[in-house]
Amino acid sequence: MWNAPIEAWGPDTATSMILVILALMLFISGRLYYTRRKKAYFSMTLSIILMLIHNMLRLYWQATGGLNDLTGFFDDLLQAVSFVLVNLGIYQLYNPTKRRQYIYFCGLIVLALGVSVFHFYPTTSGNAQQAALLADLPINLYMFVLIFVCAYMITPMVGQQGKFQTIMTLFFAKQTAHTINTYMFAGEHKWLTLAEWFLPIGYICILFLLLFDRIVELMQAIYQSSITDGLTKVYTRKYFDKRVAQYIRLNKKVAVLFSDIDNFKKLNDTKGHHMGDEMLKQVALIMQQEAEDSGIVGRYGGEELVVLITDPDTSPAKLAENIRRRIEEETIVTVSMGYSSFKKGNTAQQLVKQADEAMYKAKKTGKNKVVRFGA
Ligand code: GH3
Ligand code: MG
Ligand code: MG
Repeated sequence: MWNAPIEAWGPDTATSMILVILALMLFISGRLYYTRRKKAYFSMTLSIILMLIHNMLRLYWQATGGLNDLTGFFDDLLQAVSFVLVNLGIYQLYNPTKRRQYIYFCGLIVLALGVSVFHFYPTTSGNAQQAALLADLPINLYMFVLIFVCAYMITPMVGQQGKFQTIMTLFFAKQTAHTINTYMFAGEHKWLTLAEWFLPIGYICILFLLLFDRIVELMQAIYQSSITDGLTKVYTRKYFDKRVAQYIRLNKKVAVLFSDIDNFKKLNDTKGHHMGDEMLKQVALIMQQEAEDSGIVGRYGGEELVVLITDPDTSPAKLAENIRRRIEEETIVTVSMGYSSFKKGNTAQQLVKQADEAMYKAKKTGKNKVVRFGA
């Protein structure tokens, strides 16, 4: 196989592989754009379509022997434009884009078009082959400028920097191979030709991984924000109830702790809502720190926070007392707390209601204390 001319098999194989990966990426990115309409998915989809067209054209030119000066030029131009769009897409996956950024990216594309005009600029000296080489020199050099500008400007702005830098490095290697092959070996160096055709598979694969990882990350973030409360960052009532029910279905020995901040209305009235919010956040943080190893914390209502104790070795009374004491010592508010432990036959709703009733008893008997249900 190694004795056969590279042109006979290499380009087709490489381009076909790239087309398959691009088609998968188009499916993911197109679908995301269809359902979410985010700018990042639009740029990504557009750049993938452009890369698909580019690679299909390459396959077509290769099959028909149509890779000549003019098609070679379009090859370079399409590559430059889709490179800018891919970078825009990656940038947008991590950052909101304002008009200024669009102007930068559009500027890079306009520059690519501007530089490509040199292809049609008639040269008077040298033979036809030299003239052809010279005509494409600007766009080839501009590709290096693009790689450096994007690597320099975009790397600090994105996550997965390792993957992004690998993409840039592989692109740079491919472009270097292309340039040396074209200008020093008249495009006929076997290994450089191979590198030119096969290095893109590497960067397309890593681009695929980058896109995939980012999407998983974004989906997780959306899910996380749907089950947590915006102000206190603890779980929502709906999610909390779901978890309580889940443990009770499995007959686990859980306990629920119900807390309500004392005289909160007065605090809001005298020190303002902002201070009220700050105290609520502090109380939630203390509860989260204390319950970290023994259960989960949720916000049940305005200033009512709850804990589901799932660790059978944690004493609800001790945990509640630790929380109550820390809040009294570290904040300007106090809390009244009630708790109830699971007994056979209890439903999730009953368990929470019992803890609430115990808390109510704590309020009635002086506040800033912990009461056990049934006590
Ligand atoms: P008690 O000791 O009997 O619990 O007295 P209280 O003043 O805390 O009484 P109650 O529970 O009826 O009042 C809760 C108040 O909490 C009412 C509302 O203005 C305030 N509140 C509810 N949610 C928020 C919030 O997210 N931020 C702020 N700042 N205040 C809130
Ligand atoms: Mg209250
Ligand atoms: Mg209340």
